[in-house]
Amino acid sequence: MTPGEKRKLLKIFVKLYPHPRSELNFKTHYQLIVSVILSAQCTDKKVNQVTPVLFKKYSSFAELGKARLNTVEKIIRPINYYKTKSKNIIAMAKIVDQELKGKLPKKHEELQKLPGVGRKTANVVLVEMGKDALPVDTHVFRVSRRLGLAKGRNPDQVEDELKQEFKSEHWRNLHHWLIFHGRRVCKAQRPLCGECRLSDICPSAG
Ligand code: SF4
Repeated sequence: MTPGEKRKLLKIFVKLYPHPRSELNFKTHYQLIVSVILSAQCTDKKVNQVTPVLFKKYSSFAELGKARLNTVEKIIRPINYYKTKSKNIIAMAKIVDQELKGKLPKKHEELQKLPGVGRKTANVVLVEMGKDALPVDTHVFRVSRRLGLAKGRNPDQVEDELKQEFKSEHWRNLHHWLIFHGRRVCKAQRPLCGECRLSDICPSAG
């Protein structure tokens, strides 16, 4: 994409999606990281259905860190990989409570040391903490490649390319915009190119 086309892309995204934000429901850093861990390979909608029950029973890192595994498994059973995720969120909460004084780290490398937290999860948490990060999920990966913003064959390569293409001040919004566009218009199976406002700058249009 040319610099002019990139400027146009950002302008269109601002108009299309004026409130770029996560579609996960959370109020605290505790709720944020638990929701993001649960959302791996699962829809935000499904996560939002189980977290109110989970957060009512365990309202902090300290409480979740002491939770019984089978009780957590029962609550988050509708979530993909609920057994592994149950173990991970309990172990993560225990570490944050006992070793980090109940405070979530604000650095990528420290977040990634926590159970269940990989590069993308750490990036999503940082975005929601207001840091400049650009997590690449399945929508960001697909839409940015279709738009010609990246050619990378894996999410890490695409993240590096997008970070080179755009100033850091745009990373957070771009992450949300590409997800919104991927969910609503540039769908995996049948992209709605005929309705897409980006079709005149998109090399994959049609
Ligand atoms: S024109 Fe089609 S392929 Fe390109 S971004 Fe829009 S929906 Fe996706």
